[in-house]
Amino acid sequence: MIKKILTVLGLGLLLLITVILVNTFRKKPFPVVSEKIENRPFPDSAIAHMSGAVQIPTISISEYGAIDTAAFKAFGVFIEQSYPLVHQHLSKTLINEFSFVFEWKGKQAAMAPFIIMGHYDVVPVETSSLEEWKAPPFSGAVMDSCIWGRGSLDDKYGVICILEAAEALLRKGFTPQRTIYLCFGHDEELRGRSAAAVVQYLEQKKVRAEMVLDEGGQINVEKIKEVNRPVAVIGVAEKGYASFELSVHKEGSHSSIPDKETAIDILAAGLHRLRSNIPPAKITPPVREFLSRVSVSSDDFLLRAAGANMWLFEGVAKKIMSARPEGYAMIHTTIVPVILESGLKENIIPANAKAIINSRILPGETAQTVEDYMRHVIHDERVVIKNVSKAGSDPSTVTSITSAAFKRVESAIHKTVPNVLITPYLSVGATDSRYYRKISDGVVGFLPLTDSKGFHGVNERLPLRDLQRGINFFMTIMEEERQEFK
Ligand SMILES: [Zn+2]
Repeated sequence: MIKKILTVLGLGLLLLITVILVNTFRKKPFPVVSEKIENRPFPDSAIAHMSGAVQIPTISISEYGAIDTAAFKAFGVFIEQSYPLVHQHLSKTLINEFSFVFEWKGKQAAMAPFIIMGHYDVVPVETSSLEEWKAPPFSGAVMDSCIWGRGSLDDKYGVICILEAAEALLRKGFTPQRTIYLCFGHDEELRGRSAAAVVQYLEQKKVRAEMVLDEGGQINVEKIKEVNRPVAVIGVAEKGYASFELSVHKEGSHSSIPDKETAIDILAAGLHRLRSNIPPAKITPPVREFLSRVSVSSDDFLLRAAGANMWLFEGVAKKIMSARPEGYAMIHTTIVPVILESGLKENIIPANAKAIINSRILPGETAQTVEDYMRHVIHDERVVIKNVSKAGSDPSTVTSITSAAFKRVESAIHKTVPNVLITPYLSVGATDSRYYRKISDGVVGFLPLTDSKGFHGVNERLPLRDLQRGINFFMTIMEEERQEFK
């Protein structure tokens, strides 16, 4: 009897191994596309322009504080002087005073336009971190083959590359086939209210874009070591954003005669329950495609086997991804306390304790489902939960990888980055492009930066190689039409 059971088990195991192996060998690595890389001349002025742009402190400080309007005005003057042909041939509209919409009229009025966008506001630099910067954050210093400073990546890189590309094409007498809009926001780092106004303006003009190209994805060499090729990730969807206030009120007292449980205790226990019961991991369609393309292109046999047999190894994949913060964020709705407030004086037990929770929400869920989840996990009616998002957003729709927009970006990457593996992915941050989904099904996020360093942190810097590649990339995107119309 035992022998029979062992035989059946053995045969079952053999069958399972066969299926895994067959699946693994049937899946071929994602193909290498060998496009001719176009090396265009790099305008001498591009470095000076990028450095000059970084030197203007267009800082988005807070939603409540006033912005330094002089800096934002100076940026407008700066681009007017640096890009004379753009200003001569494109019409310029200002939205909410400082956001730009440039319209570059195409030859074919009937074709759906492109929108190529970016933002020129930057996050502030913490005074306490100043000493760690190798060059002052608004110096735009050029050293070690990089341009240093706040905004050199996020996102003056995008803005300057787009303008350089348009100016270079205009110098050659180029006119696009379809109309191209260049949209540059000035408050993206404050959740982009002006982007909503820009979209409203474009809606009034009845613009329905084939592609909206924004920041959001880049090229990874160091971060995705599993593959022996550069991996370019194109953002096809964005997580949602919500903030919640958790508050507890319980009569306070003198700290010499404390109650068994105080408002702070109740809140702390609630927060602890929240942090120790994270929402379950979920692999959304863009992440599934990402995992599949990366794993089948890996040299690691086990990874290839796992990727080709996701039906069996999904749990393992989730574990591996969760080990790194970026991977974790891609497969979880994150819920994290960001502000705590309570107490006034050492000898008073406060009656009120408050926490602000920030959540980034996976496609398929909403701010409401997150709120319900928190209520369920905290399981204490004394903790009052309120959605306090000022500019919250539910997760975006997902741009199809068979869309014209995705294919155009894919093709331009192949023409600018050799031997690259391209994959869709889910942007874990929020950008202005989420507003543009109203006027386009082709919203995609990509900038040809490689293993960028210093986003929102210290020593933000742009390698000159990436500046050249960026200009080349946007010229390829803008010119794509010419090739199709030959
Ligand atoms: Zn940005």
